[in-house]
Amino acid sequence: MRALIVSDIHSNLQALDAVLADAEDAGGYDEVWFLGDLVGYGSDPVACIDRLRGLPHVAVAGNHDHAVTGKLNPDLFNGAARAAALWTTQQLSDEEMEYLIALPEVLQAGKFTHVHGSLRDPVMEYLISEPAALATFALMETPFCLVGHSHYPLVWSEDNGRAVVELLDPTTPLFLESGRRMIVNPGSVGQPRDGDWRASYLLYESERGGDGGVLLHRRVEYDLAGAQRGILAAGLPETLATRLGSGH
Ligand code: ZN
Repeated sequence: MRALIVSDIHSNLQALDAVLADAEDAGGYDEVWFLGDLVGYGSDPVACIDRLRGLPHVAVAGNHDHAVTGKLNPDLFNGAARAAALWTTQQLSDEEMEYLIALPEVLQAGKFTHVHGSLRDPVMEYLISEPAALATFALMETPFCLVGHSHYPLVWSEDNGRAVVELLDPTTPLFLESGRRMIVNPGSVGQPRDGDWRASYLLYESERGGDGGVLLHRRVEYDLAGAQRGILAAGLPETLATRLGSGH
């Protein structure tokens, strides 16, 4: 079984399409595992929802999905994020809204748990500190947990009661062993924040590597100028366009 693992698409259709094409070139996939924040920030929420729904997939909700549907108060966001959430709400049909509303916050499937933020706070907590990672390890009922939200491609490994973090690297496959529990973030498709503007994602192969399979990190260039033009043409805050180019 091969899965395409993506998170934080954020209505960036150019980035999503580049990832889908790159994953096909890399051997394809049987299903998509999406970790939340399909919408918010970018200018193509409807097309991104359509793309994902057109593929065999499982998905969980992110904080931006919740803000667009009203499950989360957009006033909790900074100005640009709030403006994008309110704009996105106006673009979606009832049916597209229903799809976002129905997304679960946590999903357990085989050896993996899927959640946007963390297991103790599914849509809001950033898994970027050791105490946060340890709290999620304590709640995990599977060997591996997949998260998004921070937009950093990284892996937390459990090691003698500690949690050790490493950035993912496209040159180094991540072999999964059930005896070594891990929390993995594929990075962001639509708004990377680790200083590299290219879309970030993972391919999973269950039949290769350790008894848990292997994760392959990939980065792919996309039509950055097109995504930026879309944001400006939609009247969204200019900062949402410029930050895409810096990868922050
Ligand atoms: Zn996000």
